[in-house]
Amino acid sequence: MRVITRGYDISTSLAQDSGPDQGTIRARRSPVGKNEAMTKARTQARTQARTRPDPVLISGCSSGIGAATAAALVSAGFVVYATARQVETLADLEALGCRPLALDVTSEDSMVAAVKTVEAEHGRVGTLINNAGFGEYGPIEESDLGLVRAMFETNVFGLARLTQLVLPAMRRSRSGRIVNIGSMGGRITFPVGGYYHATKYAVEAISDALRVEVRPFGIDVILVEPGLIRSNFENRVNEGLEAGAARKDTVTAYADLLSANEKSTTGSYANDFMATGPETVAAVIVSALQSSRPRSRYVVTPAAKVMINLRRFGGDRIWDRAMRRQFGL
Ligand code: NAP
Repeated sequence: MRVITRGYDISTSLAQDSGPDQGTIRARRSPVGKNEAMTKARTQARTQARTRPDPVLISGCSSGIGAATAAALVSAGFVVYATARQVETLADLEALGCRPLALDVTSEDSMVAAVKTVEAEHGRVGTLINNAGFGEYGPIEESDLGLVRAMFETNVFGLARLTQLVLPAMRRSRSGRIVNIGSMGGRITFPVGGYYHATKYAVEAISDALRVEVRPFGIDVILVEPGLIRSNFENRVNEGLEAGAARKDTVTAYADLLSANEKSTTGSYANDFMATGPETVAAVIVSALQSSRPRSRYVVTPAAKVMINLRRFGGDRIWDRAMRRQFGL
């Protein structure tokens, strides 16, 4: 299979991951003769999941994956609280039946108010989807650490705090689901994206610990790891690069790397094998929430699966060589 990762050509015949980190597929064995009853029970559980009134709270619905997920879930019959820093961006989702709420995941007051609103109406948040996030890209040496800290505040601490706020009511009701939007960038790392990847590696660790901690309370933790998704994400990355180390009037030791990165990023997002629309991620989330036994991890896009496998089985040497060749280093 020929793969282009942020512009890099990888020719590999690696099969798609079927290992345990692709999600724990909990196959249930049923005794012969009980298949019909099992199928019935499963269908019933699925139907209950689909029609249950447990509200879903989603951060970052002004665009991209958050907006597509809110639209898909409300269409599937879920009660959806779609949130954004600027509520006026939620008009289309409100027209579809979502309940709009203001939520800035870097503001304690805003997070407390949003969770309280849902709990006042439903007793608890049934499912929290931690989606808000962005990429602050740049070489490790030259990145503005103030901007990097702000990214961690949203991508990691916002996710962590919102999770802390919804858990007490979930624990009391002994059910609930936390869906964290990680990234293939929490499993593989590209140059220029080091600090962004660090936030997504943090989301992996938090999700892995949390999953085990809250299991006794009947709460599921689901990590979604998208590959390249066409949303506002790429524009935000480019704006950040233009304002930072990649600025034309800035003296940088990494000019060639930055220009190779720009070229490969544009090429990859334009490539239909590498990138897809946010609806693909939304469909995976809907299906996970409709399932009575969701997996712990969902890698979204075939290209992401191939790259994660290349990184996993190829080791540092092969990956580094690939990166150096790709970025002309
Ligand atoms: P997007 O279209 O830029 O959406 C990002 C959302 O996060 C926007 O609604 C944005 O709201 C919101 N947000 C940013 N800071 C926030 C804050 N402090 N409080 C609340 N909301 C905030 O990009 P996207 O691709 O849908 O990104 C969604 C998630 O997917 C992110 O966690 C991202 O890391 C992850 N992801 C994206 C890709 C990709 O290639 N696109 C791949 C893997 C993972 P504003 O409009 O107010 O800024």
